[in-house]
Amino acid sequence: MNQTTYDFSAKRVLITGASQGIGAAIAQQFLAAGARCILASRSKPDYLPLENAHWIATDLADPAQIESLFDQLETAFGGVDVLINNAGVQLAKTVDATTDEDWQWLSNINMRAPFMCCRRAVQIMKKQGNGAIVNIGSIGGITADHELAIYNASKAWMHGLTKAIATDHGKHGIRCNAVCPTWTLTEMSTEFFDAEPDPAAARQGVSRRHPLQRLAQPQEIAQACLWLASDQASFISGQLLSVDGGMTASSAVDPVIDISGVQT
Ligand code: NAP
Repeated sequence: MNQTTYDFSAKRVLITGASQGIGAAIAQQFLAAGARCILASRSKPDYLPLENAHWIATDLADPAQIESLFDQLETAFGGVDVLINNAGVQLAKTVDATTDEDWQWLSNINMRAPFMCCRRAVQIMKKQGNGAIVNIGSIGGITADHELAIYNASKAWMHGLTKAIATDHGKHGIRCNAVCPTWTLTEMSTEFFDAEPDPAAARQGVSRRHPLQRLAQPQEIAQACLWLASDQASFISGQLLSVDGGMTASSAVDPVIDISGVQT
């Protein structure tokens, strides 16, 4: 699914968290579309080396490393046309079980880092007079997934940041949108299911709640990112695009779901 009809050959694209999962799929599709990609993550993506792909080792929990990432990017590439804020971490806890340390860790990566990346990217894009930002939100930021309290909240924050940037910087030629994936087959969702008493049943249960009866593939999330970043989406800004197999469109009330053991 890496073939693409888009032409990003004139574009410089920064993707955070491109070492695996959704970020790796996004990076590979932009590279297939001819983009020059700057990939930021702590570990080196295993699909490298590839022409036009430049990995800058970055721990996004460290503000100094984010500033250094953008300094290097500006020196080497002279600017950035597309920013994909993809890196993120998940925490399976309710609010009452969440510690201050949990909050610090998750908020640094899921909120402070994308905020800092957006700030630097907007400053650069304003000078250029154009640019596109795609933030990876989540359906969990729209309707809360169970026991992912501050993760859900961080994604709702990402959606708010998206709308704020679109509102303030449309006049500078900058578009900003969010892609909100449903459960997608990556390390992140695998880790969540593996922590359940019956991982296979948990995965099957979540799949069944999607009208399309399955989870998303990372490449399907990537396709939405490419479209929103492309000139084909030239008048789309401030939007939250759920890529969820129809899940958030459908009612939670489903007479077909197995309710044995549930008190009625
Ligand atoms: P993943 O497989 O766990 O990959 C996470 C990526 O983020 C990795 O490339 C990782 O790179 C990077 N990352 C994490 N901490 C980092 C740090 N401190 N500094 C730099 N990079 C860091 O996750 P995924 O499923 O692909 O998720 C990608 C995005 O989609 C996240 O924002 C997630 O919240 C969102 N999302 C995922 C799902 C899902 O079901 N999978 C659903 C909705 C939304 P390194 O470890 O190499 O640093």
